[in-house]
Amino acid sequence: MTIRLRPHHLLCMLTFVGEGYTPAFVENLAQVIDRIAAGKEEIEIIEGPDDICAGLLSEGDCHCHNASVLIRDQQAAIAVGELLQQPIHAGTLLQPTDDLLGRLRQAFASGTIRQACTGCQWFSICSQVAGDGFNATRLLSGILINRRLPARNRPPQRWVRSGRCLWQG
Ligand code: SF4
Repeated sequence: MTIRLRPHHLLCMLTFVGEGYTPAFVENLAQVIDRIAAGKEEIEIIEGPDDICAGLLSEGDCHCHNASVLIRDQQAAIAVGELLQQPIHAGTLLQPTDDLLGRLRQAFASGTIRQACTGCQWFSICSQVAGDGFNATRLLSGILINRRLPARNRPPQRWVRSGRCLWQG
């Protein structure tokens, strides 16, 4: 299987710390992040609602089809494409390697791929998360646990207890 993501979710996946629109959305997003962290599936770029949107599509005020969200996708596709030096469009496959995710995190923190974040209600949270080195994110903590990185690269113990990140709730 592939993890189906719309382009601007290549940014949002980096900063998820357990916040979201609804409990169902958060639960679904956590599952998608865990699949990315496991590193066993490719990310497939798609147009429109994706595996993350699936947690919100049944809500009456779902914004996943809005023109503003499509513009976010276009902005993210251009910015990430320039960073990776490859076109990002429907059908593009990306392996979520440590190298790829590290490059995305670095570019996100420096602001060079954040055009799509303009006007987003989560902007300040995501900026704080990036400013803190992404240490609180489910993706980074999940990678460090799943991929069994050397002890020096693992998250601080305050985030992990018995192999489970505290912020997973
Ligand atoms: S600011 Fe919004 S668009 Fe940008 S990463 Fe955060 S949630 Fe995604």
